[in-house]
Amino acid sequence: MPLEADLHLHTLASGHAYSTVKEMVLAAKEKGLKMIALTDHGPRMPGGPHLYHFTNLAALPRVMEGIEVLRGVEANILDANGTLDLPDSVLQDLDIVLAGLHRGTGFDGASSEEYTKAAIEALKHPRVHLIVHPGNPEFPIDLERLVLAAAGLGKALEINNSSLSISRPGSLPRCRQLARLAKRYGVWIAINSDAHVYTSVGDFSKGLELAWEAGIGEGQILNLTVSRVKGYLKGHGVSLD
Ligand SMILES: [Zn+2]
Ligand SMILES: [Zn+2]
Repeated sequence: MPLEADLHLHTLASGHAYSTVKEMVLAAKEKGLKMIALTDHGPRMPGGPHLYHFTNLAALPRVMEGIEVLRGVEANILDANGTLDLPDSVLQDLDIVLAGLHRGTGFDGASSEEYTKAAIEALKHPRVHLIVHPGNPEFPIDLERLVLAAAGLGKALEINNSSLSISRPGSLPRCRQLARLAKRYGVWIAINSDAHVYTSVGDFSKGLELAWEAGIGEGQILNLTVSRVKGYLKGHGVSLD
């Protein structure tokens, strides 16, 4: 079953990604997607964009080349309280907010307990819609606690296709564990490419494999359809109309 939306993509604005908005949109069209979210890194990422990048996203058309384009961010979680690197005044105007832990953003060398708390607190933020790549072994989050928190909040967790192919080595066993826990507790899963170049847009293959293996059905995959994504965002305070 093809997924209609890729909710995690980077453009040149991230500082270490290699394609333009237009190239990402055209790649999405070629892959048969119907929606993408532009989720460049938050400002704390070395080489990342200034806050103005996010406040100016309204300059983008909502539909390009027939592809719906969500205005988003992959925010950095900065501490165990789940503090993000963009103020609420900016987050509230975005369509979708991903949050994740990244090296080089000032929150290195903490304990598993601190990273777990950080991810859960970030997910509690009313404008955060998705915790990205929680399977990254560099930040050993307690996945069962995170999944339970997501279940309670009705929020989604990500299986990141790049974690299973080119980034974050050693993620496979933890992503497999995440998939099994998500299945057990009935949590929404988003399977995203995390593409940093146009050729990777819509690449969900390894993430899908893992999800099927864990018994996750289509009913649990958030980005299966555009209408499901919109309904989910609406349920968490975002109106795209
Ligand atoms: Zn990331
Ligand atoms: Zn990313």
